[in-house]
Amino acid sequence: GNESTVSITVVGASGDLAKRKIFPALFALYYEDCLPKHFTVYGYARSKITDAELRNMVSKTLTCRIDKRENCGKKMDQFLKRCFYHSGQYDSQQNFVDLDKKLKEHEAGRVSNRLFYLSIPPNIFIDAVRCASMSASSGNGWTRVIVEKPFGRDSESSAALTKALKQYLEEEQIFRIDHYLGKELVENLSVLRFSNLIFEPLWSRQYIRNVQLIFSEDFGTEGRGGYFDNYGIIRDIMQNHLLQILALFAMETPVSLDAEDIRNEKVKVLRSMRPLQLENVAVGQYKSHTKGGVTYPAYTDDKTVPKDSLTPTFAAAALFIDNARWDDVPFLMKAGKALHNKKAEIRVQFRHVPGNLYNRNFGIDLDRATNELVIRVQPDEAIYLKINNKVPGLGMRLGRSNLNLHYAARYSKEIPDAYERLLLDAIEGERRLFIRSDELDAAWALFTPLLKELEEKKIIPEYYPYGSRGPVGAHYLAARYNVRWGDVGVEQ
Ligand code: NAP
Repeated sequence: GNESTVSITVVGASGDLAKRKIFPALFALYYEDCLPKHFTVYGYARSKITDAELRNMVSKTLTCRIDKRENCGKKMDQFLKRCFYHSGQYDSQQNFVDLDKKLKEHEAGRVSNRLFYLSIPPNIFIDAVRCASMSASSGNGWTRVIVEKPFGRDSESSAALTKALKQYLEEEQIFRIDHYLGKELVENLSVLRFSNLIFEPLWSRQYIRNVQLIFSEDFGTEGRGGYFDNYGIIRDIMQNHLLQILALFAMETPVSLDAEDIRNEKVKVLRSMRPLQLENVAVGQYKSHTKGGVTYPAYTDDKTVPKDSLTPTFAAAALFIDNARWDDVPFLMKAGKALHNKKAEIRVQFRHVPGNLYNRNFGIDLDRATNELVIRVQPDEAIYLKINNKVPGLGMRLGRSNLNLHYAARYSKEIPDAYERLLLDAIEGERRLFIRSDELDAAWALFTPLLKELEEKKIIPEYYPYGSRGPVGAHYLAARYNVRWGDVGVEQ
Protein backbone atom coordinates (compact mmCIF):
# COMPACT_ATOMS: atom_id res chain seq x y z
CA GLY A 1 0.00 0.00 0.00
CA ASN A 2 1.02 3.66 0.09
CA GLU A 3 1.43 3.68 3.85
CA SER A 4 4.85 4.77 4.95
CA THR A 5 7.11 3.77 7.76
CA VAL A 6 10.05 5.40 9.52
CA SER A 7 13.11 3.44 10.59
CA ILE A 8 15.29 5.30 13.04
CA THR A 9 18.80 3.92 13.41
CA VAL A 10 20.83 5.22 16.31
CA VAL A 11 24.44 4.67 15.26
CA GLY A 12 26.55 4.47 18.43
CA ALA A 13 23.60 3.16 20.46
CA SER A 14 25.85 1.91 23.25
CA GLY A 15 27.11 5.44 23.96
CA ASP A 16 26.40 8.15 26.46
CA LEU A 17 24.36 10.51 24.26
CA ALA A 18 22.17 7.69 22.95
CA LYS A 19 21.33 6.54 26.46
CA ARG A 20 20.89 9.93 28.05
CA LYS A 21 19.14 11.84 25.29
CA ILE A 22 18.20 10.03 22.10
CA PHE A 23 16.26 7.02 23.37
CA PRO A 24 14.45 9.04 26.06
CA ALA A 25 13.51 11.67 23.45
CA LEU A 26 12.20 9.00 21.07
CA PHE A 27 10.12 7.53 23.87
CA ALA A 28 8.73 10.94 24.81
CA LEU A 29 7.69 11.45 21.17
CA TYR A 30 6.08 8.03 21.17
CA TYR A 31 4.23 8.80 24.38
CA GLU A 32 2.96 12.07 22.93
CA ASP A 33 1.75 10.24 19.81
CA CYS A 34 4.13 12.23 17.64
CA LEU A 35 5.78 9.27 15.92
CA PRO A 36 4.21 7.83 12.77
CA LYS A 37 2.04 4.76 13.21
CA HIS A 38 4.67 2.51 11.66
CA PHE A 39 8.10 3.06 13.09
CA THR A 40 11.05 0.98 14.20
CA VAL A 41 14.06 2.00 16.25
CA TYR A 42 17.35 0.25 15.64
CA GLY A 43 20.41 0.60 17.81
CA TYR A 44 23.65 0.05 15.92
CA ALA A 45 27.12 -0.23 17.49
CA ARG A 46 30.05 -2.63 17.71
CA SER A 47 29.20 -3.88 21.21
CA LYS A 48 27.82 -7.38 21.02
CA ILE A 49 24.51 -7.13 22.79
CA THR A 50 21.09 -8.61 22.09
CA ASP A 51 17.74 -6.89 21.50
CA ALA A 52 16.81 -7.77 25.07
CA GLU A 53 19.98 -6.23 26.45
CA LEU A 54 19.45 -3.04 24.45
CA ARG A 55 15.87 -2.85 25.75
CA ASN A 56 17.06 -3.36 29.26
CA MET A 57 19.68 -0.65 28.87
CA VAL A 58 17.22 1.78 27.29
CA SER A 59 14.46 1.07 29.82
CA LYS A 60 16.64 2.44 32.62
CA THR A 61 16.70 5.94 31.14
CA LEU A 62 13.08 6.33 29.99
CA THR A 63 10.89 8.65 32.03
CA CYS A 64 7.37 9.99 31.79
CA ARG A 65 6.53 13.62 32.35
CA ILE A 66 5.22 14.49 35.79
CA ASP A 67 1.80 15.35 34.41
CA LYS A 68 1.54 12.16 32.34
CA ARG A 69 2.19 9.26 34.60
CA GLU A 70 -0.82 7.14 33.71
CA ASN A 71 -0.05 4.14 31.52
CA CYS A 72 3.60 5.03 31.68
CA GLY A 73 4.84 1.49 32.25
CA LYS A 74 2.57 0.10 29.56
CA LYS A 75 3.69 2.71 27.07
CA MET A 76 7.31 1.93 27.86
CA ASP A 77 6.78 -1.75 27.16
CA GLN A 78 5.07 -0.96 23.86
CA PHE A 79 7.91 1.35 22.88
CA LEU A 80 10.64 -1.11 23.86
CA LYS A 81 9.01 -3.81 21.73
CA ARG A 82 9.75 -1.61 18.74
CA CYS A 83 13.43 -1.20 19.62
CA PHE A 84 15.99 -3.59 18.16
CA TYR A 85 19.72 -3.88 18.02
CA HIS A 86 22.18 -4.70 15.27
CA SER A 87 25.84 -5.18 16.04
CA GLY A 88 28.31 -4.11 13.38
CA GLN A 89 31.42 -2.16 12.48
CA TYR A 90 31.06 1.46 11.37
CA ASP A 91 33.10 0.90 8.20
CA SER A 92 31.60 -2.40 7.06
CA GLN A 93 29.35 -2.30 4.00
CA GLN A 94 28.37 -5.88 4.71
CA ASN A 95 27.22 -5.08 8.25
CA PHE A 96 25.03 -2.29 6.89
CA VAL A 97 23.69 -4.59 4.17
CA ASP A 98 22.62 -6.91 7.00
CA LEU A 99 21.00 -3.97 8.79
CA ASP A 100 19.21 -3.05 5.57
CA LYS A 101 17.73 -6.57 5.39
CA LYS A 102 16.43 -6.31 8.93
CA LEU A 103 14.96 -2.86 8.33
CA LYS A 104 13.20 -4.16 5.21
CA GLU A 105 11.57 -6.94 7.22
CA HIS A 106 10.09 -4.38 9.59
CA GLU A 107 9.07 -2.07 6.79
CA ALA A 108 7.03 -4.91 5.30
CA GLY A 109 6.76 -3.47 1.81
CA ARG A 110 5.61 -0.02 2.90
CA VAL A 111 7.24 3.17 1.66
CA SER A 112 10.41 3.26 3.70
CA ASN A 113 11.82 6.43 5.25
CA ARG A 114 15.07 6.17 7.08
CA LEU A 115 16.70 8.37 9.66
CA PHE A 116 20.25 7.69 10.82
CA TYR A 117 21.40 9.42 13.97
CA LEU A 118 25.21 9.53 14.12
CA SER A 119 25.94 9.40 17.82
CA ILE A 120 29.56 8.40 17.42
CA PRO A 121 32.96 10.10 17.68
CA PRO A 122 33.70 12.40 14.72
CA ASN A 123 36.60 10.37 13.33
CA ILE A 124 34.14 7.69 12.20
CA PHE A 125 31.36 9.97 10.85
CA ILE A 126 32.38 9.54 7.25
CA ASP A 127 32.80 5.75 7.39
CA ALA A 128 29.35 5.43 8.88
CA VAL A 129 27.77 7.82 6.38
CA ARG A 130 29.37 6.00 3.46
CA CYS A 131 28.14 2.62 4.64
CA ALA A 132 24.68 3.81 5.62
CA SER A 133 24.11 5.70 2.38
CA MET A 134 25.51 3.03 0.09
CA SER A 135 24.13 -0.04 1.80
CA ALA A 136 21.17 0.98 3.93
CA SER A 137 19.47 3.94 2.21
CA SER A 138 15.79 3.84 1.52
CA GLY A 139 14.90 2.62 -1.96
CA ASN A 140 11.60 4.45 -2.25
CA GLY A 141 11.38 7.08 0.52
CA TRP A 142 13.68 9.58 2.12
CA THR A 143 16.99 8.98 3.87
CA ARG A 144 18.21 11.57 6.36
CA VAL A 145 21.27 11.72 8.58
CA ILE A 146 21.51 13.62 11.84
CA VAL A 147 25.08 14.68 12.57
CA GLU A 148 26.27 15.74 16.01
CA LYS A 149 28.92 18.30 16.78
CA PRO A 150 31.84 18.73 16.43
CA PHE A 151 31.59 19.75 12.79
CA GLY A 152 35.35 19.98 12.37
CA ARG A 153 37.66 22.09 14.51
CA ASP A 154 38.35 24.97 12.11
CA SER A 155 37.31 26.23 8.67
CA GLU A 156 39.44 23.70 6.79
CA SER A 157 38.47 20.57 8.71
CA SER A 158 34.83 21.61 8.70
CA ALA A 159 34.89 22.16 4.93
CA ALA A 160 36.57 18.79 4.50
CA LEU A 161 33.86 17.13 6.59
CA THR A 162 31.12 18.82 4.57
CA LYS A 163 32.76 17.81 1.31
CA ALA A 164 33.07 14.22 2.46
CA LEU A 165 29.42 14.14 3.63
CA LYS A 166 28.31 15.53 0.28
CA GLN A 167 29.99 12.68 -1.57
CA TYR A 168 27.25 10.52 -0.14
CA LEU A 169 24.42 12.89 0.77
CA GLU A 170 22.60 15.89 -0.64
CA GLU A 171 22.52 19.00 1.53
CA GLU A 172 18.84 18.45 2.34
CA GLN A 173 19.63 15.01 3.73
CA ILE A 174 22.10 16.39 6.28
CA PHE A 175 20.66 17.51 9.64
CA ARG A 176 23.42 19.12 11.69
CA ILE A 177 22.24 19.34 15.28
CA ASP A 178 22.91 22.25 17.56
CA HIS A 179 20.76 21.24 20.48
CA TYR A 180 20.59 24.84 21.75
CA LEU A 181 18.33 25.58 18.81
CA GLY A 182 15.88 23.02 20.17
CA LYS A 183 15.58 24.76 23.51
CA GLU A 184 12.21 26.29 24.29
CA LEU A 185 13.44 29.81 25.04
CA VAL A 186 15.71 29.92 22.04
CA GLU A 187 12.77 29.06 19.80
CA ASN A 188 10.78 31.68 21.61
CA LEU A 189 13.29 34.43 20.78
CA SER A 190 11.71 35.06 17.40
CA VAL A 191 8.19 34.92 18.82
CA LEU A 192 9.07 37.45 21.47
CA ARG A 193 10.65 39.78 19.00
CA PHE A 194 8.44 39.47 15.95
CA SER A 195 5.02 39.06 17.50
CA ASN A 196 5.13 41.78 20.16
CA LEU A 197 4.96 45.38 19.09
CA ILE A 198 6.99 46.56 22.03
CA PHE A 199 10.21 44.65 21.33
CA GLU A 200 11.04 44.81 17.64
CA PRO A 201 11.15 48.63 17.46
CA LEU A 202 13.74 48.61 20.26
CA TRP A 203 15.87 45.91 18.62
CA SER A 204 18.73 48.01 17.31
CA ARG A 205 21.72 50.17 18.18
CA GLN A 206 19.38 53.03 18.86
CA TYR A 207 18.06 51.49 22.09
CA ILE A 208 20.25 48.52 22.85
CA ARG A 209 23.58 49.26 24.48
CA ASN A 210 24.95 45.73 24.52
CA VAL A 211 23.87 42.12 24.36
CA GLN A 212 25.36 39.39 26.52
CA LEU A 213 25.31 35.66 25.87
CA ILE A 214 26.33 33.74 28.93
CA PHE A 215 26.92 30.05 29.48
CA SER A 216 28.29 28.59 32.68
CA GLU A 217 28.71 25.17 34.21
CA ASP A 218 29.45 24.54 37.86
CA PHE A 219 31.54 21.44 37.19
CA GLY A 220 34.72 20.67 35.31
CA THR A 221 35.64 17.89 32.90
CA GLU A 222 35.51 15.37 35.77
CA GLY A 223 37.73 12.73 34.17
CA ARG A 224 36.23 13.07 30.69
CA GLY A 225 38.48 15.81 29.35
CA GLY A 226 40.02 13.81 26.52
CA TYR A 227 37.55 15.02 23.91
CA PHE A 228 37.32 18.50 25.37
CA ASP A 229 41.06 19.13 25.45
CA ASN A 230 41.26 18.93 21.68
CA TYR A 231 38.49 21.51 21.31
CA GLY A 232 38.34 23.92 24.22
CA ILE A 233 35.45 26.08 25.36
CA ILE A 234 35.49 28.41 22.34
CA ARG A 235 34.80 25.56 19.92
CA ASP A 236 32.66 23.60 22.35
CA ILE A 237 30.23 26.38 23.28
CA MET A 238 30.88 29.72 21.58
CA GLN A 239 31.39 28.98 17.91
CA ASN A 240 28.22 26.91 17.84
CA HIS A 241 25.67 27.36 20.66
CA LEU A 242 26.24 31.00 21.59
CA LEU A 243 26.84 32.13 18.03
CA GLN A 244 23.63 30.43 16.89
CA ILE A 245 21.69 32.29 19.56
CA LEU A 246 23.38 35.53 18.52
CA ALA A 247 22.44 34.99 14.88
CA LEU A 248 18.80 34.34 15.76
CA PHE A 249 18.77 37.32 18.06
CA ALA A 250 20.31 39.77 15.62
CA MET A 251 19.02 38.64 12.22
CA GLU A 252 16.77 40.83 10.09
CA THR A 253 13.12 39.86 9.75
CA PRO A 254 12.96 36.76 7.55
CA VAL A 255 10.62 36.68 4.57
CA SER A 256 8.72 33.81 6.19
CA LEU A 257 9.15 31.11 8.80
CA ASP A 258 10.43 28.69 6.17
CA ALA A 259 13.73 27.05 6.97
CA GLU A 260 15.50 28.56 3.97
CA ASP A 261 14.25 32.07 4.69
CA ILE A 262 15.35 31.92 8.32
CA ARG A 263 18.69 30.37 7.53
CA ASN A 264 19.32 32.96 4.81
CA GLU A 265 18.95 35.71 7.40
CA LYS A 266 21.21 33.91 9.87
CA VAL A 267 23.92 33.55 7.25
CA LYS A 268 23.60 37.24 6.37
CA VAL A 269 24.12 38.38 9.93
CA LEU A 270 27.04 36.00 10.45
CA ARG A 271 28.68 37.27 7.30
CA SER A 272 28.25 40.86 8.51
CA MET A 273 30.33 40.14 11.59
CA ARG A 274 33.98 40.96 12.11
CA PRO A 275 36.24 37.95 12.60
CA LEU A 276 37.29 37.81 16.24
CA GLN A 277 40.49 39.56 17.22
CA LEU A 278 42.79 38.30 19.94
CA GLU A 279 42.51 41.60 21.80
CA ASN A 280 38.75 41.09 22.04
CA VAL A 281 39.08 37.79 23.85
CA ALA A 282 39.98 36.72 27.38
CA VAL A 283 40.75 33.06 28.02
CA GLY A 284 40.97 31.18 31.29
CA GLN A 285 41.53 27.75 32.74
CA TYR A 286 40.37 26.55 36.13
CA LYS A 287 42.81 25.71 38.85
CA SER A 288 42.47 23.73 42.03
CA HIS A 289 40.60 25.32 44.90
CA THR A 290 39.87 24.28 48.47
CA LYS A 291 36.64 25.35 50.07
CA GLY A 292 35.01 24.12 53.27
CA GLY A 293 37.61 21.39 53.58
CA VAL A 294 36.91 20.07 50.05
CA THR A 295 39.59 20.34 47.38
CA TYR A 296 38.30 20.80 43.86
CA PRO A 297 40.68 19.72 41.08
CA ALA A 298 42.44 21.83 38.49
CA TYR A 299 41.62 21.18 34.83
CA THR A 300 45.07 19.64 34.38
CA ASP A 301 44.46 17.28 37.32
CA ASP A 302 42.04 15.45 35.02
CA LYS A 303 43.92 12.27 34.06
CA THR A 304 42.67 12.49 30.49
CA VAL A 305 44.17 15.98 30.04
CA PRO A 306 47.89 16.64 29.32
CA LYS A 307 49.62 18.23 32.32
CA ASP A 308 50.80 21.20 30.25
CA SER A 309 47.50 21.82 28.45
CA LEU A 310 46.74 25.45 27.60
CA THR A 311 43.19 24.65 26.45
CA PRO A 312 40.76 27.33 27.62
CA THR A 313 37.98 26.13 29.91
CA PHE A 314 36.69 29.71 30.01
CA ALA A 315 36.48 32.45 27.42
CA ALA A 316 34.92 35.86 27.09
CA ALA A 317 34.71 37.65 23.78
CA ALA A 318 33.41 40.89 22.29
CA LEU A 319 31.88 40.54 18.83
CA PHE A 320 30.57 43.16 16.45
CA ILE A 321 28.09 43.14 13.61
CA ASP A 322 29.00 45.66 10.95
CA ASN A 323 25.55 46.46 9.63
CA ALA A 324 23.14 49.35 9.94
CA ARG A 325 21.17 47.81 12.78
CA TRP A 326 24.05 46.84 15.06
CA ASP A 327 26.98 49.09 14.18
CA ASP A 328 29.19 49.43 17.30
CA VAL A 329 26.93 47.47 19.65
CA PRO A 330 29.11 45.01 21.58
CA PHE A 331 27.82 41.43 21.67
CA LEU A 332 29.61 39.90 24.61
CA MET A 333 29.94 36.18 25.02
CA LYS A 334 31.07 34.39 28.13
CA ALA A 335 31.37 30.64 28.53
CA GLY A 336 33.08 28.58 31.16
CA LYS A 337 33.34 25.38 33.13
CA ALA A 338 33.88 25.00 36.88
CA LEU A 339 32.26 28.34 37.68
CA HIS A 340 30.08 29.31 40.63
CA ASN A 341 26.78 28.55 38.91
CA LYS A 342 25.16 26.70 36.05
CA LYS A 343 23.10 28.59 33.53
CA ALA A 344 22.59 29.84 30.01
CA GLU A 345 21.07 33.23 29.41
CA ILE A 346 20.75 36.16 27.09
CA ARG A 347 20.90 39.64 28.60
CA VAL A 348 19.95 42.73 26.69
CA GLN A 349 21.05 45.97 28.29
CA PHE A 350 19.27 49.05 27.06
CA ARG A 351 20.64 52.57 26.85
CA HIS A 352 19.91 54.99 29.65
CA VAL A 353 17.03 57.39 29.48
CA PRO A 354 18.19 60.65 27.92
CA GLY A 355 17.64 63.65 30.18
CA ASN A 356 16.16 61.49 32.89
CA LEU A 357 14.22 63.49 35.45
CA TYR A 358 15.05 61.07 38.21
CA ASN A 359 18.79 61.36 38.14
CA ARG A 360 20.82 60.74 41.26
CA ASN A 361 18.67 61.74 44.19
CA PHE A 362 16.08 59.03 44.41
CA GLY A 363 17.98 56.04 45.67
CA ILE A 364 19.43 54.55 42.50
CA ASP A 365 21.97 55.63 39.94
CA LEU A 366 20.00 55.69 36.71
CA ASP A 367 23.12 55.68 34.58
CA ARG A 368 23.68 52.19 35.84
CA ALA A 369 20.11 51.13 36.44
CA THR A 370 19.13 50.81 32.80
CA ASN A 371 16.43 48.51 31.60
CA GLU A 372 17.58 44.98 31.05
CA LEU A 373 15.75 42.15 29.36
CA VAL A 374 16.88 38.73 30.51
CA ILE A 375 16.01 35.50 28.75
CA ARG A 376 17.05 32.64 30.96
CA VAL A 377 17.39 29.63 28.69
CA GLN A 378 18.26 27.20 31.48
CA PRO A 379 17.73 26.17 34.19
CA ASP A 380 14.41 27.44 35.50
CA GLU A 381 13.33 29.13 32.27
CA ALA A 382 12.21 32.73 32.53
CA ILE A 383 11.94 36.02 30.72
CA TYR A 384 12.13 39.12 32.83
CA LEU A 385 12.52 42.81 32.30
CA LYS A 386 14.28 44.95 34.85
CA ILE A 387 12.55 48.25 35.32
CA ASN A 388 12.90 51.19 37.65
CA ASN A 389 9.88 51.62 39.82
CA LYS A 390 8.69 53.86 42.59
CA VAL A 391 8.92 52.12 45.93
CA PRO A 392 5.40 52.46 47.38
CA GLY A 393 5.02 55.04 50.10
CA LEU A 394 4.70 58.74 50.69
CA GLY A 395 8.28 59.53 49.79
CA MET A 396 9.81 59.37 46.33
CA ARG A 397 12.27 56.56 46.27
CA LEU A 398 13.10 54.46 43.21
CA GLY A 399 13.95 50.80 43.20
CA ARG A 400 14.68 48.01 40.72
CA SER A 401 11.99 45.48 39.98
CA ASN A 402 11.37 42.66 37.57
CA LEU A 403 8.42 42.18 35.29
CA ASN A 404 8.75 38.46 35.44
CA LEU A 405 7.53 35.62 33.25
CA HIS A 406 8.62 32.62 35.21
CA TYR A 407 7.82 29.51 33.22
CA ALA A 408 7.34 27.15 36.16
CA ALA A 409 4.76 29.51 37.67
CA ARG A 410 3.00 30.39 34.41
CA TYR A 411 2.88 27.07 32.59
CA SER A 412 2.06 23.84 34.31
CA LYS A 413 3.45 21.82 31.39
CA GLU A 414 6.87 20.32 31.63
CA ILE A 415 9.14 21.72 28.94
CA PRO A 416 10.17 19.12 26.37
CA ASP A 417 13.84 18.31 26.01
CA ALA A 418 15.59 19.93 23.03
CA TYR A 419 16.28 16.53 21.50
CA GLU A 420 12.56 15.76 21.29
CA ARG A 421 11.83 18.79 19.16
CA LEU A 422 14.87 18.22 16.96
CA LEU A 423 14.16 14.55 16.38
CA LEU A 424 10.56 15.31 15.54
CA ASP A 425 11.64 18.04 13.12
CA ALA A 426 14.10 15.69 11.41
CA ILE A 427 11.37 13.07 11.00
CA GLU A 428 9.03 15.69 9.59
CA GLY A 429 11.69 17.18 7.32
CA GLU A 430 11.58 20.57 9.07
CA ARG A 431 15.08 22.04 8.66
CA ARG A 432 14.65 25.40 10.39
CA LEU A 433 16.56 24.40 13.51
CA PHE A 434 19.41 22.61 11.78
CA ILE A 435 22.65 24.20 10.58
CA ARG A 436 23.05 24.60 6.83
CA SER A 437 26.58 24.23 5.48
CA ASP A 438 26.99 27.87 4.43
CA GLU A 439 25.97 28.88 7.94
CA LEU A 440 28.59 26.57 9.36
CA ASP A 441 31.25 28.00 7.02
CA ALA A 442 30.36 31.55 8.08
CA ALA A 443 30.53 30.57 11.75
CA TRP A 444 33.96 29.01 11.38
CA ALA A 445 35.26 31.96 9.38
CA LEU A 446 34.65 34.18 12.42
CA PHE A 447 36.52 31.99 14.87
CA THR A 448 39.23 30.18 12.91
CA PRO A 449 41.84 33.01 12.73
CA LEU A 450 41.52 33.58 16.49
CA LEU A 451 41.74 29.88 17.33
CA LYS A 452 44.88 29.53 15.20
CA GLU A 453 46.48 32.55 16.80
CA LEU A 454 45.73 31.32 20.33
CA GLU A 455 47.33 28.00 19.49
CA GLU A 456 50.30 29.30 17.50
CA LYS A 457 51.21 31.92 20.08
CA LYS A 458 50.56 29.44 22.89
CA ILE A 459 48.57 32.06 24.76
CA ILE A 460 48.56 31.23 28.45
CA PRO A 461 45.06 31.24 29.93
CA GLU A 462 44.36 33.19 33.11
CA TYR A 463 43.95 30.68 35.91
CA TYR A 464 40.78 30.98 37.99
CA PRO A 465 39.77 28.96 41.03
CA TYR A 466 37.31 26.10 40.53
CA GLY A 467 33.88 27.36 41.56
CA SER A 468 34.69 31.07 41.17
CA ARG A 469 33.21 33.70 38.86
CA GLY A 470 36.02 33.20 36.36
CA PRO A 471 39.06 35.29 35.48
CA VAL A 472 39.04 39.06 36.00
CA GLY A 473 40.19 39.39 32.38
CA ALA A 474 36.53 39.01 31.42
CA HIS A 475 35.70 42.13 33.41
CA TYR A 476 38.51 44.16 31.88
CA LEU A 477 37.37 43.10 28.43
CA ALA A 478 33.79 44.18 29.13
CA ALA A 479 34.95 47.41 30.75
CA ARG A 480 36.81 48.36 27.59
CA TYR A 481 33.42 48.52 25.89
CA ASN A 482 31.78 50.20 28.84
CA VAL A 483 29.90 47.07 29.76
CA ARG A 484 29.30 45.47 33.11
CA TRP A 485 28.39 41.82 33.02
CA GLY A 486 24.77 41.66 34.02
CA ASP A 487 25.03 38.61 36.22
CA VAL A 488 27.28 40.12 38.87
CA GLY A 489 24.73 42.20 40.71
CA VAL A 490 22.25 40.94 43.25
CA GLU A 491 19.39 39.06 41.64
CA GLN A 492 15.85 39.41 42.85
P1 NAP B 1 30.62 8.00 23.07
O1 NAP B 1 29.81 7.45 24.18
O2 NAP B 1 32.06 8.25 23.30
O3 NAP B 1 30.57 7.08 21.78
C1 NAP B 1 29.38 6.51 21.25
C2 NAP B 1 29.66 5.10 20.77
O4 NAP B 1 30.57 5.13 19.68
C3 NAP B 1 30.31 4.23 21.82
O5 NAP B 1 29.36 3.61 22.63
C4 NAP B 1 31.08 3.22 20.98
O6 NAP B 1 30.22 2.14 20.65
C5 NAP B 1 31.41 3.99 19.75
N1 NAP B 1 32.81 4.44 19.80
C6 NAP B 1 33.40 5.17 20.76
N2 NAP B 1 34.69 5.39 20.46
C7 NAP B 1 34.92 4.82 19.30
C8 NAP B 1 36.06 4.72 18.47
N3 NAP B 1 37.22 5.30 18.80
N4 NAP B 1 35.96 4.03 17.32
C9 NAP B 1 34.79 3.48 16.98
N5 NAP B 1 33.67 3.56 17.73
C10 NAP B 1 33.74 4.21 18.88
O7 NAP B 1 30.00 9.33 22.51
P2 NAP B 1 28.71 10.15 23.00
O8 NAP B 1 29.08 10.92 24.20
O9 NAP B 1 27.55 9.24 23.06
O10 NAP B 1 28.54 11.21 21.82
C11 NAP B 1 28.21 10.83 20.50
C12 NAP B 1 28.39 12.00 19.57
O11 NAP B 1 27.60 13.08 20.01
C13 NAP B 1 29.79 12.54 19.50
O12 NAP B 1 30.04 13.00 18.19
C14 NAP B 1 29.80 13.71 20.46
O13 NAP B 1 30.74 14.67 20.09
C15 NAP B 1 28.39 14.22 20.26
N6 NAP B 1 27.84 14.92 21.40
C16 NAP B 1 27.74 14.31 22.63
C17 NAP B 1 27.15 14.96 23.69
C18 NAP B 1 27.01 14.28 25.03
O14 NAP B 1 26.41 14.88 25.91
N7 NAP B 1 27.51 13.09 25.24
C19 NAP B 1 26.66 16.26 23.53
C20 NAP B 1 26.76 16.87 22.27
C21 NAP B 1 27.35 16.18 21.23
P3 NAP B 1 30.75 0.65 20.34
O15 NAP B 1 32.09 0.50 20.98
O16 NAP B 1 29.70 -0.24 20.91
O17 NAP B 1 30.81 0.59 18.87
